[in-house]
Amino acid sequence: MSAMLPEAAEYIVVGGGTAGNVVAARLAEAGKDVLVLEAGPDFGAQGSPAWPADILDATRLGRSHDWGYDSGDTYPWTVGFERARAIGGSSDFNGCTQTWGHRRDYDAWSESGLTGWAADDLLPLFEEGTRRMRVRRYVADELTPWQHAWYDAAPAVGMPRVATLNDLDEAAGFAPEDVNIQDGVRVNSAFAYLDPVRELPNLAIVGEALVDRVIVADGRATGVVVQHRGESVTVHAGTVVLAGGAYNSPTVLLRSGVGPYAQLAPLGIPLVQHLPGVGENLHDQPFLLMSFEGSDAMSARMDAARSAGWAPDEQAMGKAASSVETEAFDLHFLPYSPTHRGDLTRWSIGTSALLPRSRGHVRLRSADPEAKPVIDHRFLTDPEGIDVRMLMDGAEILRELAASPALAPLVGTELHPGPDTFGREELAAHLYANPDNYWHPVGTCRMGVAADPLAVVDARAQVLGVEGLRVADCSIMPTIPRATTAMPAIVMGEKVAAMLLEEASA
Ligand SMILES: Cc1cc2nc3c(=O)[nH]c(=O)nc-3n(C[C@H](O)[C@H](O)[C@H](O)COP(=O)(O)OP(=O)(O)OC[C@H]3O[C@@H](n4cnc5c(N)ncnc54)[C@H](O)[C@@H]3O)c2cc1C
Repeated sequence: MSAMLPEAAEYIVVGGGTAGNVVAARLAEAGKDVLVLEAGPDFGAQGSPAWPADILDATRLGRSHDWGYDSGDTYPWTVGFERARAIGGSSDFNGCTQTWGHRRDYDAWSESGLTGWAADDLLPLFEEGTRRMRVRRYVADELTPWQHAWYDAAPAVGMPRVATLNDLDEAAGFAPEDVNIQDGVRVNSAFAYLDPVRELPNLAIVGEALVDRVIVADGRATGVVVQHRGESVTVHAGTVVLAGGAYNSPTVLLRSGVGPYAQLAPLGIPLVQHLPGVGENLHDQPFLLMSFEGSDAMSARMDAARSAGWAPDEQAMGKAASSVETEAFDLHFLPYSPTHRGDLTRWSIGTSALLPRSRGHVRLRSADPEAKPVIDHRFLTDPEGIDVRMLMDGAEILRELAASPALAPLVGTELHPGPDTFGREELAAHLYANPDNYWHPVGTCRMGVAADPLAVVDARAQVLGVEGLRVADCSIMPTIPRATTAMPAIVMGEKVAAMLLEEASA
């Protein structure tokens, strides 16, 4: 399936993931000569038998072809930081929930001086991404009994049932999800964006091609060094677009000598451009998965739903404000009903603090492109303790909901974190000891204005001090939107592609 490596391309897109495929498709559609280099396999177009079943199956998260990243020894227990290493990127793995966040998220970027990134600038791109990713909206009748029970009860704690979570002006609400699922298949960004252009002669997609570094000469990117079929090969480029995701775009920059001098020197990497922000500002939304014993009534209803055929793990979601939020909302609630764990089924619902203040980092352990980086999220370390407060508020809202007359007989006793954590101090201690992530890392090549000491790219996604080098993925988000990040990633791709095409035609 893997094509031959060409010697040169007008545009090289590093990473055929969620955002990278959008950039590649838009440039190819416009007639540009594009090469996609993807570290994992390219399984071909939708319908090819090479696609693994777990990546196609939209009822649960994908697992195969993972980069294998985790928290290492930065926490008391190992937290997995799953990322797909295959064409489609993390859109191969995700829960297919498509949320956009709130208007304030993007307006805040624009107000910080990032021209062109306000909510109204991005809205048409969200709409287009939604169309291309074949997003549909569940109706309440399609929800499994577990999902329906929480959706029905939500108004009891101030979350009205709403049509969608994707009204950029709305605060609290609980809704059936908008999902990129078609005929039970997870519609990844390769199906949605690459398939229509796969046959174009000006697009090449090469799988199993791990980009080691970008070559920079006289302040300009001229190509990449890529590991392919056991060899280290140079491919020349007019423009290089990094789309390796929030963990990997910074590592490519660091191996290229673009980053903080003090980190590069001990690894023997020659400095090309001192940019202290590369790999910094890592943040994700801390998460707590709560589990309940369930009930015979719920088991019987779910068994019936499973035998009827369609019972995905995720289908409905709520949003509400914690005690620290005054503008809109900063909590998500996500009923989760694993259908594939047989007798081990736990009845779960997660909550996440969407606007974390804590910041961590991604750093290289060595200059070897296959070496796993240090990924330290530093969850719940903000000095004011706001993140833990948000998450505790989320847990308490869920407990109140679980205790409501309609839900209590169905969900049963709380098993995790359990009765030992009913006091606020005990709950905080539990959260500090058991950090978890919501799979939405962002911010490690952050977009910023000239005065921002940690800016890595400018508002045109151009790497500061290196001509011809862009970043287009979740890593450029200066702050995380109060959303799951799949559709925002698509929008990053759409926006950067539009800017590249605009510049090319100027
Ligand atoms: C398990 C899981 C569940 C999730 N659930 C949801 C959900 O339900 N809803 C939601 O909105 N979001 C969800 N997300 C998050 C969402 O999928 C991601 O935020 C988004 O896909 C990230 O897009 P990206 O383009 O930044 O990176 P990715 O999609 O990860 O793309 C990066 C690509 O670059 C490739 N790459 C990296 N380094 C190199 C290199 N050196 N050389 C060549 N190629 C390279 C990778 O292999 C990958 O294909 C989930 C994520 C995971 C992992």
